Amino acid sequence: MSGLRIPLEGPDGAGTAHALNLLAPNPSPMTLDGTNTWVIGRGEEVLVVDPGPDDGRHLARVADHLRDRRVVAILLTHGHHDHSGGARAFAGLVGAPVRALDPRHRLGDEGLGDGDVVAAGGLELHAVGTPGHSFDSLCFWLPEDGAMLTGDTVLGRGTTVIAPDGDLADYLRSLDRLRATAERVGARALLPGHGPVLSDPIAALDGYLAHRRQRLDQIRRARERGAATPREIVEVVYAEVDRSLWPAAEMSVRAQLDYLDGLRG
Ligand SMILES: [Zn+2]
Repeated sequence: MSGLRIPLEGPDGAGTAHALNLLAPNPSPMTLDGTNTWVIGRGEEVLVVDPGPDDGRHLARVADHLRDRRVVAILLTHGHHDHSGGARAFAGLVGAPVRALDPRHRLGDEGLGDGDVVAAGGLELHAVGTPGHSFDSLCFWLPEDGAMLTGDTVLGRGTTVIAPDGDLADYLRSLDRLRATAERVGARALLPGHGPVLSDPIAALDGYLAHRRQRLDQIRRARERGAATPREIVEVVYAEVDRSLWPAAEMSVRAQLDYLDGLRG
């Protein structure tokens, strides 16, 4: 059985047949409801994707949920603190290695990169390199459930930002790649790093691509009308967006200016 079971209350407890979200209690404008910690597995072996921030109660809750099941590996979608901060402590709790693209976040001998397959309890997760939100972003394809874990590359609500260690040109290529992959494999769900499960992957990815193109056009026009600094552009382009999100918007505008200037250069 691999049908979706999406509860109405929100991200905590959401998932697919073999993927369960245990929501970390770190809500904010940037993290939405909080970080989604994904437990992937069947039988006695599981994988844990993104232990979340270094929050002892959250990590204990995840460990309690696992009971006697063995954590084969802890995987990180990327190194940002809200996903990786608790990895070391959680590894200590459950006695498992941490695998990530960025060597600084690994614990143990094994890395993780595009094309790697990690198996546990007869299930496989396939790593897909999706740089852009951050330089080290990975998505994980769970064929058994037709589900793609997307980290912060695609969120369950709103849009993601390009972090200072990310790159918009990479990000657009990664979205194109995810869309092509989702179409080829017939993906039925996106399991994001924040926010609810998305049950129409192609529509979600098309929405992300359209939103990026629209923002880039808006920024081009704002510049033509005289907005020069990232802040001035935010005031025009993100006028309708809550001001608590303007610092994130400014980060995103910087990434978009880099991208547009790169196209011209
Ligand atoms: Zn995040």
